[in-house]
Amino acid sequence: TSFDDLGLRKELLRGVYAMGFEKPSAIQQYGIKPIVEGRDTIAQAHSGTGKTATFSIATLEKVDITKKVPQALILAPTRELAGQSKAVLSNLARFMSGLSVHCAIGGTPIDDDIAAFHRGVHIVVGTPGRINDLIRREVLTPATIELIILDEADEMLSRGFSEQIYDIFKSLSSEVQACLISATMPSSILEMTSQFMRDPVQILV
Ligand code: AMP
Repeated sequence: TSFDDLGLRKELLRGVYAMGFEKPSAIQQYGIKPIVEGRDTIAQAHSGTGKTATFSIATLEKVDITKKVPQALILAPTRELAGQSKAVLSNLARFMSGLSVHCAIGGTPIDDDIAAFHRGVHIVVGTPGRINDLIRREVLTPATIELIILDEADEMLSRGFSEQIYDIFKSLSSEVQACLISATMPSSILEMTSQFMRDPVQILV
């Protein structure tokens, strides 16, 4: 398989090749399509497998640039990881004009987030605490989110974010598409997936 076979929009495909990627990694080969097609997806994958580009490419393929509302929410366990994923998304999207990705994390002025949401954002990457805060303040409107990605879900649970994640899920539409990436699959993760996911595609790399 090559990236050409994934049916990506051409500006996104250009972005993929501009990253220097030649061929999809295993998780990209098996993971991008189901996410683009709207399936709930669970991937057991460590960092280094190309997991960030998997959910980033799929998210960018799905987003409707003409609707300037938050459509996808990506949760990360740390501010650093959220920042790295934001950078990958922005890099991949460099030829998708008008597309806006915002990183919302603790330790930064919330006024910056408020200003960004006022200008309009398509994709939000953040840590659970700040994302919940923005939902509570009605800055981030959960009703428009169609896709949620939980990156390093096991790390998020071990850092005590489980209640925050449940709160976020409860605020989202019950129709939301959910994707979860985790290096390990403890019972706490399986419980969460059984509560919020429907017939997920499972990928092991
Ligand atoms: P990750 O698993 O997201 O931590 O990514 C690991 C590294 O692999 C990052 O430095 C990516 O830039 C790189 N990478 C991701 N996908 C590909 C690909 N298809 N070809 C070459 N490198 C890649």
